[in-house]
Amino acid sequence: MPYDPENVFARIIRGEIPSDRIYEDDEFIAFRDISPAAPVHILVIPRREGIASTADLTESDVPWTGRMVLLAARIAREQGIEESGYRLLMNCGPNGGQTVSHLHLHLLRRSSSRLPLRLLRRRWSSPRRPRRWWSCRKRLPPRRPRVRGWSSKRRVGW
Ligand code: 5GP
Repeated sequence: MPYDPENVFARIIRGEIPSDRIYEDDEFIAFRDISPAAPVHILVIPRREGIASTADLTESDVPWTGRMVLLAARIAREQGIEESGYRLLMNCGPNGGQTVSHLHLHLLRRSSSRLPLRLLRRRWSSPRRPRRWWSCRKRLPPRRPRVRGWSSKRRVGW
């Protein structure tokens, strides 16, 4: 994924787009995700531009990427989610689910649900109510009456 200097995070760093910042220093900014996939969803980004994803990292990036992980852990502690648990996540490239071409770390409060992130996002942010189980049931063909004496083999062909 090539680095786009006009990506939203670069614009947030430059102050061209507002963000709900919870931390910033000379090196990093942390702000709340605009479309949270979990009750706590914070993004930690480096101020340095030009690194689109983990695919661009080299040996020389080890010190600051380490500091970024430590910062995420510190924010988790300050947000009171250290004990309950949380998830740190980095998407890389289109097949990794990455949409913004500026390296970033997702800090998510671990949900009790075991749904994948893609589904959690839809469930958490969608204004639509989930479909009720009985409306799913309606689409099933009517049950055929059970005939005494039929073997299970004969019913397989239905
Ligand atoms: P990715 O899918 O690239 O790993 O994560 C990008 C994240 O950035 C998504 O979770 C998306 O909701 C978030 N995002 C995209 N645009 C904005 C924005 O303008 N402001 C904020 N705060 N988050 C954004």
